[in-house]
Amino acid sequence: MILQDIIELYDNHMARQNEKNRQTRYVGKETWFHASGAGGCHLKHLLASCGIEGTEQGKSINTRVMRLGTIVHEDIQAALIPVDWKVHTEIRNEAGQITYTGDELLVEDEITLPMWNVRGFYDIANINHKDKIIQVFDIKTAAAYKFSIIFGRKPDTMPSNMYDLQLSTYALGLAQQFPDYELQMYLLYYKKDNSDFRVKTVGTENLIHASNYWTAVNEFVDANKEIVLRLNAECKIIAEKDGNPYMAFEHFKTGIRQFCNPGQQLNLPCVGFECNPLYCNKAVLCPSRLHISKKRK
Ligand code: SF4
Repeated sequence: MILQDIIELYDNHMARQNEKNRQTRYVGKETWFHASGAGGCHLKHLLASCGIEGTEQGKSINTRVMRLGTIVHEDIQAALIPVDWKVHTEIRNEAGQITYTGDELLVEDEITLPMWNVRGFYDIANINHKDKIIQVFDIKTAAAYKFSIIFGRKPDTMPSNMYDLQLSTYALGLAQQFPDYELQMYLLYYKKDNSDFRVKTVGTENLIHASNYWTAVNEFVDANKEIVLRLNAECKIIAEKDGNPYMAFEHFKTGIRQFCNPGQQLNLPCVGFECNPLYCNKAVLCPSRLHISKKRK
């Protein structure tokens, strides 16, 4: 066995794990928006909600980076599951209303927000039923540069708010269950270079931003879904006729310009790096030239 065999076996293993995760969590639920996509390009949500998968996000090295993040998540969460001193008791009064006592530690649980058609899985929630406080944590792995622009002496003055909106979406999901509880939100950063931990508190004003974000996504999707479904049907016919998807992709790109201008329109994308095909599996279908023009400079 040579190094190449080991790498190939590992890449195949990751592909199987990712597929298992996709089958368990997302198959049959394709019409829901993903909470983890909060703060991202509205067009990506639109295409995903029409069942348009796009292309594989190629490079194995990116899959390995994501896998490392998943492993860190799983390890931290596994450490919390045996914490059995967190117990809560359900109390039902005569009118059938349920209240709770004690604390509750929840790990990797699902939230749904039907009014926005959003679902997802938060990392950690600690619910203090006595004081009515919910602490929600989202684990993020970051390399040294990212860490330095968050916690270093010269922090990024215009940071992306994607993580804040994701976490707020999970918090809104929990708030549905416990509407009169205070919400506290934290991003728990794990530095990949030296395994250091740092916490960033996320302000509750982001709950409103998340709510506005999902309202805007729904409006954009409702207004344009029909066109995209029609385009997709036309593209299938073209691809079958040509035996080659190239013209179908071009037809799709032209069609998208009927209703939006990706790369030059607010929220399409929300931040420039999203258009990198390594992050956007819809890039092959999208007329945005943000990534191409960056490479040509
Ligand atoms: S390429 Fe950019 S604009 Fe197009 S769908 Fe992807 S993120 Fe959105």
